[in-house]
Amino acid sequence: MTSVLVVNSGSSSFKYQLIDADDERRLASGLVERIGEPTGHATHDVPDGHWERSLEIPDHTAGFGVMLDAFREHGPSLETHPPIAVGHRVVHGGARFFEPTLVTPLVLINIEDLSDLAPLHNPANVEGIKAAQKAFPELPHVAVFDTAFHQTMAPDAYTYAIDAELASRLRIRRYGFHGTSHKYVSGAAARFLQRPLGELKQIVLHLGNGASMTAVDGGRSVDTSMGLTPLEGLVMGTRSGDVDPAVLIYLQRKTRIGPDDLDDLLNQRSGLLGLSGRKDMRDVIRAADDGDESARLALEVYLHRIRHYIGAYTFELGRVDDIVFTAGVGENSAEIRARSLAGLEHHGIEVDPDRNDSRVGGVRVISTDASRVTVLVVPTDEELEIARQTLSVVG
Ligand code: ADP
Repeated sequence: MTSVLVVNSGSSSFKYQLIDADDERRLASGLVERIGEPTGHATHDVPDGHWERSLEIPDHTAGFGVMLDAFREHGPSLETHPPIAVGHRVVHGGARFFEPTLVTPLVLINIEDLSDLAPLHNPANVEGIKAAQKAFPELPHVAVFDTAFHQTMAPDAYTYAIDAELASRLRIRRYGFHGTSHKYVSGAAARFLQRPLGELKQIVLHLGNGASMTAVDGGRSVDTSMGLTPLEGLVMGTRSGDVDPAVLIYLQRKTRIGPDDLDDLLNQRSGLLGLSGRKDMRDVIRAADDGDESARLALEVYLHRIRHYIGAYTFELGRVDDIVFTAGVGENSAEIRARSLAGLEHHGIEVDPDRNDSRVGGVRVISTDASRVTVLVVPTDEELEIARQTLSVVG
């Protein structure tokens, strides 16, 4: 009855899941948040119960103490389900980390060194790892990187056409993100279709608050829409996705906006929010249905960008066997799925309206039987993928 503890740390919070190492059941999940604020908050969920506590949680180390208390008081007992490893989500692995990696002092230094590329995430991930190491000093800790899956991209796909020396010195290139999800979802689709992953050409659409698309050839990422940071590519809840870089130069000249405000503008105040004043896709769809022009345009820009990448990845792959939708919007919005692929019958893509509208959960096909390209919905499970990759390292 061994288990794996999966941890996803932010700067003032962390999420955790305890996953059975044998049958992959979720034994518990929780969230410790508002770390460092006067009143912190913790939730702990097990299949038959939900607990919440408000108390001061000065730092991540104290947060893991709160988590251990929750396991002791509400189960499952870590003695009857002993974790054999802790898997940590790490956002940026740069070009150094291309697979799940056992955390050593040198690995931690390297993750810290990549903080320039992910200033909001990597320092928080390191803090979470260090605190978890204190809570579980005897266990192996494994880092699973959001960027790792995309390390199979070839130079033509990951290189920006800018001054090569400068790019090399500052490590400027496309890295891609959501890799754990893209890997999980493309693998799950292949298993569902009972086809060897190695012979499938797939396009995966991870459409959540953050959104990215990946062209997956034989289980390997060959191109992805996010870049040096998660800002590039699709229109997202609050992120712009692709813009002409000259827009930023123009803005700087015209408004004297500084780098921090520009960062905030493009990451926090753009995308669906910037276009329509709403960042939640459900609100945007509702407003568009009610005749709101800005919401209607936001949806059209969002869909235009998706279709742009579907076209690009179809040509890059040369053939597409399946297209997979995942994450909040991809799993739940029949309208976005239908409109993303409308009118592509000549390209062998035919969504079945009844299958698409069905509310059945789990992995399912939403294309017609005649569709040459199979279209699927696959619920993503990044924590399970992290647990699997962690186990692959510790045996
Ligand atoms: P995150 O990137 O934060 O993990 P999620 O994958 O949870 O995000 O996706 C969140 C997004 O999913 C939100 O924009 C939300 O509106 C959208 N979403 C959830 N359910 C639906 C639905 N039924 N229809 C349209 N969008 C939905």
